[in-house]
Amino acid sequence: MEAPTEFPSVTFSDLATSSSAAPAAAVFSVDSSGKPRLRFVQTGSAAPLAELDLETTQVFRVGPVDLLCVSEEESGGNATDEKLCSKAFKVGFKTKDESKGFATAFEEWKNGRSSKDGASLENGLIVPSKSKFDSKIEATSAKMYFHYYGQLLHQQNMLQDFVRTGTYYAAVLENRSDFEGRVVVDVGAGSGILSLFAAQAGAKHVYAVEASEMAEYAQKLISGNPSLGQRITVIKGKVEEVELPEKADILISEPMGTLLVNERMLESYIIARDRFLTPSGKMFPTLGRIHMAPFSDEYLYVEVANKALFWQQQNFFGVDLTPLHGSAFQGYFSQPVVDAFDPRLLVSPPTFHTLDFTSMKEEDLYELDIPLNFTATVGTRVHGLACWFDVLFNGSTVQRWLTTAPGSPTTHWYQLRCVLQQPLYVMAGQQITGRLHLVAHSAQSYTIYLTLSTKMWGVGAEQGGVLQTSTGKLELKEPYYRLSQPQSYGASDQQQQTVQTQSMPPQDISQLQDEIDPSLSLEQL
Ligand code: SAH
Repeated sequence: MEAPTEFPSVTFSDLATSSSAAPAAAVFSVDSSGKPRLRFVQTGSAAPLAELDLETTQVFRVGPVDLLCVSEEESGGNATDEKLCSKAFKVGFKTKDESKGFATAFEEWKNGRSSKDGASLENGLIVPSKSKFDSKIEATSAKMYFHYYGQLLHQQNMLQDFVRTGTYYAAVLENRSDFEGRVVVDVGAGSGILSLFAAQAGAKHVYAVEASEMAEYAQKLISGNPSLGQRITVIKGKVEEVELPEKADILISEPMGTLLVNERMLESYIIARDRFLTPSGKMFPTLGRIHMAPFSDEYLYVEVANKALFWQQQNFFGVDLTPLHGSAFQGYFSQPVVDAFDPRLLVSPPTFHTLDFTSMKEEDLYELDIPLNFTATVGTRVHGLACWFDVLFNGSTVQRWLTTAPGSPTTHWYQLRCVLQQPLYVMAGQQITGRLHLVAHSAQSYTIYLTLSTKMWGVGAEQGGVLQTSTGKLELKEPYYRLSQPQSYGASDQQQQTVQTQSMPPQDISQLQDEIDPSLSLEQL
């Protein structure tokens, strides 16, 4: 709720009673239903002299320092035809300026204060309204999100993704000319690692914007690397809200989530572009692509379907659980599966959908509607759609891709698979069509609507006609991390600890070897 604006020493007289002017305070505020109101309170008394609804009140100037407040309100009397009557109060001020300030405040409160965010009134500061971030993201989701990124263990998880961090390092340092002498903004700086890379590549100045508590750690890390740190300024706040003293020549960021768009941080990246980047400025990464292909994985399908078997018990401590089997079955299929899979499970060559970060609008990310069209290379059962992404650093010297494709070195994003409750049968050469429809929601993620259809093939195909269609509704925010097999790198989120004990990044293993006994081989360890 907005802080009230108070004028502590005015004079007040009710024209209806012709009373003499009494010393009073005038207070603008909103009531519990959000309506703006103006109260006059007698000095030295808690009882209000009058309380006016601003929507039905007008102000007139009746002298250099005097104003007239006229309010049309229900009289509360029982004569129905005279329900509406005017009440008028004369309000006196000590100075012209104070009287002018009151009139301005009156207009501000009456018309809603959002139009003058941050403007300074003579009698108080207008509270800024919700930012673009706050108005579309639930406060509870944002709180958990920034709490997560405020912890060093999660930043470490990303830093230890050697494919990710190594590709960013190479993309920046191989393109020195894009950084040398330039102003850089690091959008969502986290630990500040990308700002430090940009400084290594010769940036003139880097603004490291980070909304979570990690900003304090970033400041520590940057201060501890003074040769680079002296060219970096850490700014704690959301990119939607902070102000920077100059425009940037290049933005650097790692805004990618599962399926590229999860976490909805790409929108912040686009907003940062519009707020901070010069028109000819560069973006690292420059574009992103979502890749998709149908897959066949009988083991995965059975695993997901069997999770609901629990609810098929008819005597669970004397209780029949079967009424919930259908809902549980649906629930498990609404979880996209995150793991690294063998690309030989793909049923056709993949297609992709490009997001050009330099030209797209923020609103383009509210809903993505991707038509699908594949040709099966084998005859098999299709269990769903496999997805991954890559991003391009379109440097002036070197173009670098960071890919999360199956078969490529695994990243902490792994790949994502949407499993359909109803598999489809295809023959080699048969067409698979459909649609991947992603709809953003206020919990910083997306609802996934997937449709896959197989067209008739062989004799009679000329008549066309769709044989089978299978649909699924999945929640990107609630994935199933299926990482029971050892993985080369730590998983994201909750699975992190368990996976880390199962496997370690190669650089950690060699370090361990050094510490224990240089003569020991990896196998012996
Ligand atoms: N750049 C770091 C961290 C990437 S994770 C690295 O590459 O290692 C993304 C970071 O962006 C998180 O620390 C998160 O808190 C921050 N972030 C997300 N949305 C933001 C926003 N709207 N404004 C500022 N920071 C944001």
